[in-house]
Amino acid sequence: MLLSVIVPCYNEEGNIDLFYDETVKALGDLMPDTELIFVNDGSKDATITKLRALCARAEYRVRVVSFSRNFGKEAALLAGLRASQGTFTSIIDADLQQNPAYILDMMEILDKHPEYDAVAAYQEERREGFLISFFKKSFYKVIDSLTDVKIMQAASDFRLLRRPVVDAILALPEKCRFSKGIFAWVGFETYYMPYEVEERASGTSKWNFWKLMMYAFDGIIAFSNKPLVMSSIAGVFLFAIAILYLIIIVIKTLLWGDPVAGFPTLACLILMLSGIQLLSVGILGQYLAKSYTESKGRPVFIIKEELDNGSQQDLP
Ligand code: UDP
Ligand code: MG
Repeated sequence: MLLSVIVPCYNEEGNIDLFYDETVKALGDLMPDTELIFVNDGSKDATITKLRALCARAEYRVRVVSFSRNFGKEAALLAGLRASQGTFTSIIDADLQQNPAYILDMMEILDKHPEYDAVAAYQEERREGFLISFFKKSFYKVIDSLTDVKIMQAASDFRLLRRPVVDAILALPEKCRFSKGIFAWVGFETYYMPYEVEERASGTSKWNFWKLMMYAFDGIIAFSNKPLVMSSIAGVFLFAIAILYLIIIVIKTLLWGDPVAGFPTLACLILMLSGIQLLSVGILGQYLAKSYTESKGRPVFIIKEELDNGSQQDLP
């Protein structure tokens, strides 16, 4: 098997057939040596019915991994990577926002440049609202300064990976998976290829502002311990200020016999300090929650159904 194409699908009933037809058209000669792996991430619409029908009608190899419920895109990617058998593995969205024809360009790049192990597509121009775009930029700045992994800002999950990269990713045992960080963490030489995002063929985006925020927090917690260090430093810093302030008050009282004053100051200090304490406990809690999840050792996803049309074998 030359190429595995992993397609995470969550409520994509309108896109499945379209995606297959477009991919067959785009990949052309590569198709006989390609497997399309659709991961149905617990869709609530008719995605699985469409996938079953596709498996029956498809001329080329189609495999389906269907989850027992929605486990999230990260889980779907992991399931796809585990299933993939190709020398090259591509990850692409089901909504045709990422034109499958780019996979050919990616293959060409890896063909021409043996020194590269992966190609990641990035958007030169983002077609997003101002707020989302601002927060995304800020997130990458924060994660860049907090972690040792360098995450290319605009790079998407739309990638082509050589086998060793896939094996390296699969060797990571963690349950809380943040792909963008994992891609960067495993290293290897990545070629960044610009691409243009298209409109969603059908359906709606699964991301909203809060989901993105939570995703960003997850990413920081998964790849950096610095928030913990920062809350300790804040503690030491505030303690030093408190001692200094205490000395000033004692001197003032001794020299001038200052009457007790400054209730507003006190109120502000209490608010500020308890705020910082709560924040620190919260940060600690996040790490604890993550290690709790890891230590439970639950699987990242549960497979309910697997399909494989095995067309590959019937072809001449
Ligand atoms: N997706 C998924 N599970 C989820 C959310 C999304 O498998 O819980 C898939 C979705 O079907 C699509 C891809 O991830 O193929 C990207 O999602 P979407 O298009 O909603 O994200 P956007 O392009 O808006 O960033
Ligand atoms: Mg999309």
